[in-house]
Amino acid sequence: MEELRYQVDLLGAMNQKLEKEERMLRLVCDTSSNAFLYMNFEEKEVKTLANWSFFFPDVEIINMKDVAKLYSKVEERYVLPFKELLNLEKTGISISSGVVRLADGKTWVECEVSVVYDTHKNPTDKVIRFKNISKFKNQNEELTYMAYYDVLTGLYNRNYFVRHLADYVRKAEDEKRIVAVMFIDIDDFRKINDGLGLVVGDEVVQQFGQFLSTFKSENVIVSHFNADIYCIAIYDPRGTRSVEHIYKVIHERIRTPFVMSTGQEITISVSAGVAEYPEAAKSTLELINCAEIVMFKAKGSGKNAIQYFDAPILNDFLQNVTIENKLKEAVFNQNFTLNFQPQYHVGTKKLRGVEALIRWRDNDGAMISPALFIPIAEKNGTIVPIGSWVLEESIRTFAEWKRNYSENLILSLNISAIQYRRHEFVNMILGMIRKYNVSPEEIELEITESVLIENFHEVVEKLHVLRAHGIRISLDDFGTGYSSLSYLKGLPIDTLKIDKSFIDAMLTDENARVIIESIIYMVRKLGFETVAEGVESKEQYEYLEGIGCDCIQGFFMGKPMPENEIQELLSELI
Ligand code: C2E
Ligand code: CA
Ligand code: CA
Repeated sequence: MEELRYQVDLLGAMNQKLEKEERMLRLVCDTSSNAFLYMNFEEKEVKTLANWSFFFPDVEIINMKDVAKLYSKVEERYVLPFKELLNLEKTGISISSGVVRLADGKTWVECEVSVVYDTHKNPTDKVIRFKNISKFKNQNEELTYMAYYDVLTGLYNRNYFVRHLADYVRKAEDEKRIVAVMFIDIDDFRKINDGLGLVVGDEVVQQFGQFLSTFKSENVIVSHFNADIYCIAIYDPRGTRSVEHIYKVIHERIRTPFVMSTGQEITISVSAGVAEYPEAAKSTLELINCAEIVMFKAKGSGKNAIQYFDAPILNDFLQNVTIENKLKEAVFNQNFTLNFQPQYHVGTKKLRGVEALIRWRDNDGAMISPALFIPIAEKNGTIVPIGSWVLEESIRTFAEWKRNYSENLILSLNISAIQYRRHEFVNMILGMIRKYNVSPEEIELEITESVLIENFHEVVEKLHVLRAHGIRISLDDFGTGYSSLSYLKGLPIDTLKIDKSFIDAMLTDENARVIIESIIYMVRKLGFETVAEGVESKEQYEYLEGIGCDCIQGFFMGKPMPENEIQELLSELI
């Protein structure tokens, strides 16, 4: 009896302990957001625990066979790996895990399976833990999205584009097809950004990007590189996916304005460059580069245009790059010299003065034209040291002539926009004049219309100051820019240089004659002096004399020449 009571007490105590343990286990399970599936193979028992209904609300598992009901609860592409996990015990492996997405398309689940085997390698127990990892997974997806997509437009980004274009190129190589790359850039986008604000700028980029996305198809990738730059790759272009067709549709669309969320209407134009595999380039990055280079050509020739790849454009570009690299070295080594071209009064043929023209002899002895390198120097800023050198060197030389030959001459200097824009410019000129003891009336600064147009008020203000000091101002290349006679009236200038293109056309073209005659007539009335540039023949000289042109400069009377030849010229005058 005693024995029995003892047994009962013992059982009771054990039960209590078990209950306590089970409670604890349940608590652990319930407080975690996981779900568990427990199987005991010996007893053929199956149990679902914890948060089961979150994962599989409509799946009741009562026996082993029910487990198969779970297969259809994951997305189709995960069914196979999921089955393998659920049947892990058959593989003899004791632990494994995998990630599946449920059929709702949203919930990501990590499944961890542990199997216990007996000494004969027969499975005895198995537990599967289901853990919801959607939050983490979606964040990850977002990162993947951001790695391939541009957030602003929803288009692919440059990374993706480059990768995909590489696939197109590989395929085109196999299938002997063409791949076209279209590089598109919104014209004057800076004006939109600066004038209307970044928010409007972004919205324009977004709306235009959304419009471009309509071209997306199996054989067309549309991407947004950055700012206002888009790139389209077309595999085997033809029909509605030909470059011509796409460009036409874009052109039609941008004829009507984009309407911003504020109701504001913005009209844009775009420039495009096109390069095709295999004609333009064989590699992905080269193709994109070529398309970009020719796009710049479209911009340079008036924007709102499309430019197809053309080898000379690429050569020009490469030449410019070479010049740019050499230029920095030349500035450092001061590989420049000056030439001076005489200018004469018409009629008396008296020397008026000289125009200083820079010369650059490359290390290998080749002469590089200033028409070629000055625009590059303006772009990369080297025009500042180059311009200062020209100023000092020419004024120094000029002062030397003055000491030797007491002629009243004018030194004309070409000044670029960048130089005019620098705040120390006026003081620098005045300082140089003082340093070499030349009089301001002997110095003439040449300015082109483009400089004026870009920064009208700032430049005109400076010109007034310079003229107040007695320095002469000359408007160079007149006739190539806006050439409106009406705006000349208020300009602080003394001289107007008629561009060579007019002189070239003058004798053969009636219109050019009418224009040049009225320019000279008007300019005289305004009180400016006229200088005709690029006069190459006696006939031109005589014609200009007949219509009252004041001065001429050109090969007919004298080519640009080195300093010593000018000295000879001056000594003949004595
Ligand atoms: P530009 O100021 O219009 O200079 C006149 C150009 O016409 C010079 O070319 C000159 O050699 C050329 N020329 C003069 N007469 C004749 C002629 O009868 N026939 C022909 N075919 N050409 C003639 P260059 O020296 O090659 O200079 C080209 C341009 O480079 C200049 O045009 C000017 O814009 C720029 N440049 C030259 N030197 C400087 C400089 O020191 N500073 C700056 N900023 N620009 C310069
Ligand atoms: Ca000039
Ligand atoms: Ca000129």
